[in-house]
Amino acid sequence: MSNSSPHSLHPSDRRPITYRHAFEVVYVEDGVNPDRVSEILSLIQPREVIPIHHYKDVFCRPHQDVVLQKQSPALILANKRAPFFYPGAPVCQSFGNEHFYYTSVAMNCLFDCEYCYLQGMYPSGNVVVFLNYQDYLDELNRLLTEHPVYLCLSYDTDLFPLESISHAISYWLDVVSTKENLRMEIRTKAAPHHLVALPNVYYAFTISPQPVIDAYEHRAASLHNRLQAAKEAIEAGCNVRLSFDPMIVVPHWEDVYDEMMQEVLATIPVEQLSDVSIGSFRISKEYLKILRRVRPNGAIGFYPFQLKDGYYHYPDDTARHMQERICTALSSRLPKERIFFDQESL
Ligand code: SF4
Repeated sequence: MSNSSPHSLHPSDRRPITYRHAFEVVYVEDGVNPDRVSEILSLIQPREVIPIHHYKDVFCRPHQDVVLQKQSPALILANKRAPFFYPGAPVCQSFGNEHFYYTSVAMNCLFDCEYCYLQGMYPSGNVVVFLNYQDYLDELNRLLTEHPVYLCLSYDTDLFPLESISHAISYWLDVVSTKENLRMEIRTKAAPHHLVALPNVYYAFTISPQPVIDAYEHRAASLHNRLQAAKEAIEAGCNVRLSFDPMIVVPHWEDVYDEMMQEVLATIPVEQLSDVSIGSFRISKEYLKILRRVRPNGAIGFYPFQLKDGYYHYPDDTARHMQERICTALSSRLPKERIFFDQESL
């Protein structure tokens, strides 16, 4: 699969973002498309290439230091086996879509958010990129014969910094452009430019206050750059969603989030947003246990949360207060029907 898609991102976005910290070692699983492997290796020029039988032989080894690996992750090129699509978890917002699925075309991420649930989900900080998209497409075509599909493409990763390697975004934009009963969301903490406008694609920009980005969202784009990218996408006719999720309790969080909202309202033509999602930090019981183990000095995981239905949340009053604050700031410019909340933590 070469990157000759009509929906390839602009050349400036295909250029690798800095891989200085990453991918010095590349593992290549048996059976992966050799042309794609050569293309990727010539792009990133790793120090070492190691053939492996199955990606789990490396990715699922016991006793890995996830936080350390995130500082300089290896890349694992592999083929995904079924299942290719998963029903959305209860704490994920479905935006009113009945047949809501997410997929995993890559696992882990070049960004390093201290609160990321993937640290609890995966035993490794290394990045897996799956290359057998045709197998995904076969399964998707089968699902689409049963019902429409709303697909979140980037739940277990942020695909934009990986695009020059994976070509996942351009591939799936090609797919979605031919299917009326498929809608897709691509979520990011990057600041991509020259996004392709398609009626059934939603670009979701996760928006956080700059102090939260500085403290907890390492290597992700600044608030200013995310907002500029979102504004540019709206001007290009894209469906743009802003996601204020997860909101994080930090000292003086009211002032911190108010200041962020002033910048949002001054930059974004809010009336033209497709919608907005709002949610405060929440994490499953099992993942929080692991998060506390891997980040014993992290401030986020040690908040005195409330446990509800297997998920830890901020106390109800705090969660409600946080979400309402964003809603109030938006309400004069965006109808309430276009504002979605994380109901589980309210
Ligand atoms: S951008 Fe998303 S997937 Fe990547 S580290 Fe942050 S929370 Fe995790």
